[in-house]
Amino acid sequence: MKNPASDLEVLILAPTGQDGGAAVEVLNTHRILARPFSDMTSLCERLKKPAGAVLIAEEALTLENSDQLKQAVSLQEAWSNIPIILLTSEFEKILSAERILEILGTTGSLSILERPFKILTLVSAVRVALGSRLRQYEVKELLEQQAKALKQRDEFLHIASHELKTPLTSLKIQVQLRKKLLEKNDPGVYSPESVTNLVNITDKQIRRLTRLVEDMLDITRIQGGQLTLNTEKIEFENLVKEVISNFDEEFRRAGCELRSEIAGGLTINGDRYRLEQVVTNLLSNALKYGNGCPVDVKASKDGKAIRLSVKDQGIGIDSTSQERIFERFERAVSPSSIGGLGLGLYITRQIVELHHGKIYLESTVGKGSEFILEFPEY
Ligand code: ADP
Repeated sequence: MKNPASDLEVLILAPTGQDGGAAVEVLNTHRILARPFSDMTSLCERLKKPAGAVLIAEEALTLENSDQLKQAVSLQEAWSNIPIILLTSEFEKILSAERILEILGTTGSLSILERPFKILTLVSAVRVALGSRLRQYEVKELLEQQAKALKQRDEFLHIASHELKTPLTSLKIQVQLRKKLLEKNDPGVYSPESVTNLVNITDKQIRRLTRLVEDMLDITRIQGGQLTLNTEKIEFENLVKEVISNFDEEFRRAGCELRSEIAGGLTINGDRYRLEQVVTNLLSNALKYGNGCPVDVKASKDGKAIRLSVKDQGIGIDSTSQERIFERFERAVSPSSIGGLGLGLYITRQIVELHHGKIYLESTVGKGSEFILEFPEY
């Protein structure tokens, strides 16, 4: 919470510095922050910043400065309704009392405390006001969180549609091309090269679409606390080798070297499918953001921990983004430069943590990134 009640200052307007000072002292002894103001103009100026309540001694109030306060209060944001406490003695006897009430009454948060009152009455009235003010700040924060979530959702929908459309467009172009050749009775359409090409492209794009849809489903599972593991004893070195061999072709086509150093005897208690997903994600990121430079995969045992390192020499990640990219939808590149939903590392971290493991990142912009996983040994 950004503004706990004890951090919210009570702004006091009293005719003489002395009255204000006394009120400040009383409130301070009860651990309430307070500040005296000698004129309404400076108090209203201070209202532009976060504040807890306004306390006004009746003698300090005039028709003009009531109006001034009303103006300042009306400029507050929709969520804000600062409590105003008016300290009176013979308020009804003041000529303009009704008019003042009319003006301030419409602020909707005016309360009147009649003098003489006990100090505790004042303190408790101020505490009630600060409590209600704190609720307002809480509502403000909720509203901000909601607005952020809506913005994120809209951005996600925009990027997700774009990401889904790219492979679909590629498939559409291939099909239209074959259709035209078939219409022209072109025998080339049946040639082994043409068929192999079509199968390869279709396979690649279907895998891309499947990965996207799987990621989106995983997000829903994580949010609902339904991402669970089917654990068994796993020879992690074999799992890593399998994923590497699945990537061989893709790295070769990208002209990127994939080097590995895999130790033996790396057993962990894990979910095969989910661990494959983790290693796949790190390797596909190394390829995607690796600038075509060699990628090194190392798996080893470090004491009781099983370690996997995936190191590239690509674009790297600036230090301010290194924490953030493990969060949902967070990315460190612009969508127009390299596509992606910003879900892979979020899902990866969730899976690693479900395995009681840890994920670390070391990266330098322009030099490359190293993602390190650590799992407890079986
Ligand atoms: P996506 O790749 O779909 O954006 P990820 O969650 O896998 O989603 O990654 C989040 C962000 O982290 C990426 O957008 C990218 O900015 C950054 N990132 C991930 N891996 C690397 C890497 N190996 N090198 C540089 N940046 C990376």
